[in-house]
Amino acid sequence: MLTVEQALEAILSRIPRLGTERVDIPGALGRVLAEPIVARREIPPWPNSSMDGYAVRAEDTRRGAALAVVGRVEAGAVPARGVGPGEAMRIFTGAPLPPGADAVVPQEDVESGDGRIALRGPAEPSAYVRQRGEDVQAGARVLEPGTVLTAAEIGLLATLGHGQVPVHRRPRVAILSTGNELADLGTEPEPGQIPNTNTYSLMAQVLEAGGDAVNLGVARDRLDAIEDRVRAARGADALVSSAGVSVGELDLVREALARAGAELHLWQVAMRPGKPITFGSLGPRPVWGLPGNPVSAMVTFELFVRPALLKMGGRRRLTRPSIRARAMETVPNPGSRRGYLRVRLEATAQGLGARLTGEQGSAILRSMVSADGLAVVPPDTVIPMGAELEIILLRDLP
Ligand code: AMP
Ligand code: MG
Repeated sequence: MLTVEQALEAILSRIPRLGTERVDIPGALGRVLAEPIVARREIPPWPNSSMDGYAVRAEDTRRGAALAVVGRVEAGAVPARGVGPGEAMRIFTGAPLPPGADAVVPQEDVESGDGRIALRGPAEPSAYVRQRGEDVQAGARVLEPGTVLTAAEIGLLATLGHGQVPVHRRPRVAILSTGNELADLGTEPEPGQIPNTNTYSLMAQVLEAGGDAVNLGVARDRLDAIEDRVRAARGADALVSSAGVSVGELDLVREALARAGAELHLWQVAMRPGKPITFGSLGPRPVWGLPGNPVSAMVTFELFVRPALLKMGGRRRLTRPSIRARAMETVPNPGSRRGYLRVRLEATAQGLGARLTGEQGSAILRSMVSADGLAVVPPDTVIPMGAELEIILLRDLP
């Protein structure tokens, strides 16, 4: 059986990066930059004042010096003249420094009246002056491809005059649920039926991974029905199905994928929850058959689908961050497969602590609700209370 690392490597080696498109800046939040950004302007474009006060020549500012106020410059204007020896100019935050001046004295530090100012002390050259290009030099490479655009990058792009930016396309991911027992949202489950969970948790996980989800609905456990839906996934960049990948007579997803033309690369990974998971290629499209239990489907998505969608979408970092936390209770993993146990994190006096979110069965969806992370526990191991756990972070730290 493959290890999680072997399976992920086999998957990622077959994942293409998607093409690019241009998007408007206000809608670029969370998108992934596809090309480097080289500054086409200097920021700031000219020296300017960081205070309301007086633009002066620093050499004229001996203690007690009096200077003649020869003009005024506001933000948005240009100075009508320069500042000569013995002179000062009234200036406001963001206004260009007049020629000749090399410092600003804040208005709190002068006595003013009668067209003159008296200084209380000397000013250093460059005091309260924002120099030309001190933030960004023209020609500097300021953003790298693969950067996820946050508010700060968007501000920088706007300042550099980019109304649009080239970003990677978001992967369109078709989601298919399979099973005779499934009643979809909007219908009341009849005797023997259970509600369809996976379509909706997986669609949400696709969105979290920066993709667009397409709902292919529920296919019954019949080869032709599943094959039909798999073919419908040709309009998407990837397909994620759940259930029907185990060894029962009604586990038909692998065969249906093959009949629809997919080449299957792997099946079964040494982990819990999970184990039966299949991955293949339908032409250029990656396809996954995840296990049916809701927790298994979510956890295998985290480990094997999310990194692939991030790669398709142009991201550089493909894995979630891992942290270490102290076990606040005994964490057992009996059995021969590596465990991915749902934990809630707590800030404690001795640093971060982790507690299981409750019963860990792969059908116990509540164990996923409010899980901050997945504790990675080796096979046949009991982590004693107080020992360190390795945790894959699923959410922001508490
Ligand atoms: P299977 O792999 O088809 O044997 O499914 C494993 C378990 O997951 C069974 O108990 C199924 O009823 C359940 N299951 C399969 N698909 C879904 C789904 N979409 N939503 C909720 N439970 C599911
Ligand atoms: Mg089934």
